[in-house]
Amino acid sequence: MMLENMRFERFTQDSRVVFFTGAGISAESGIATFRDPDGHWSKYDPMKLASQAGFREDPELVLGWYADRREAIHKAKPNAAHISISKFQKLFRHSVVITQNVDGLHERAGNRSIYELHGNIHRHKCNSCGKYIELNDMNMRILNRCECGGSIRPDVVWFGESLALETINGAFNAAQNCDLMFTIGTSTQIYPAAQLPFEAQKNGAFVIEINPEATSFSAQADISLRDKAGSILPKIYEEINAQLN
Ligand SMILES: [Zn+2]
Repeated sequence: MMLENMRFERFTQDSRVVFFTGAGISAESGIATFRDPDGHWSKYDPMKLASQAGFREDPELVLGWYADRREAIHKAKPNAAHISISKFQKLFRHSVVITQNVDGLHERAGNRSIYELHGNIHRHKCNSCGKYIELNDMNMRILNRCECGGSIRPDVVWFGESLALETINGAFNAAQNCDLMFTIGTSTQIYPAAQLPFEAQKNGAFVIEINPEATSFSAQADISLRDKAGSILPKIYEEINAQLN
C-alpha cells in the first residue's frame, strides 16, 4: 500500500494513540534480541540468565549478563523510529508508548507516558521486599543486599514471573480506549502483551502494524507493512502530519 493512499482524516490531534513496541525496534538500534547469538553468552541457557532459579543458583552469572547487556545498550542510540514517536507525541497530545523492551531507548529518545511491560534494565529492586534501590554502581556485577537482607536484582520481568499489575492494567486500558494503534517490531507471540493489538481493534481502534515478517496479527491489521520501523515510521509521520495540518 502506498502511503499517500492512506487516509487519516478520521484522526485529529485529540485522537488517542498507542505505540506498542517489541524487540524489533531495539534490534534496529543494534540491540540483540534475547535469543540472538551474543558472543560467549550464547552458550548459556536464557532460562538460567533470566529466572529466579538461575539467580539463586549463580547470582553473579546473572548480574554479569545484565551488566554486559547494559553496556551494549549504553553504546546503542535511539533510532529513527524512536525519534518519530517523539514527533508523533507532539502531534497527538493523548498518546502513550507500551513496550516489551527493557532498554530504556524510548525514554532516551524523549518519548513520554511509557508503560514498560517487562521492566527496565537500568533500575534495580530487592528480590525479597520489592523496594526500588539506587546503587552507586548502576552496573553492578557482584551481589548486593537490601537492608531487609534480600538480594538486589535488575527490575526486569523474568521467565515465570508476572508483569506488574499496575503496568499491565494501564497498558490494557490505553489499548482498549485508543483510536489509533501502531504495533511496531513485535511478533505478537508473548502473552498477555500479544493481546494488545487485538484488544485495541476489538474496541474500534485502527491498527497499523509495522514488522519485517508477518505475525499472528498481520491478517487482521487495518494496515500491515513489511518494513523496518526506522525507514517507514518517519514517512508515516510526514503523511499524517501533512493530512492533519
Ligand atoms: Zn528488601
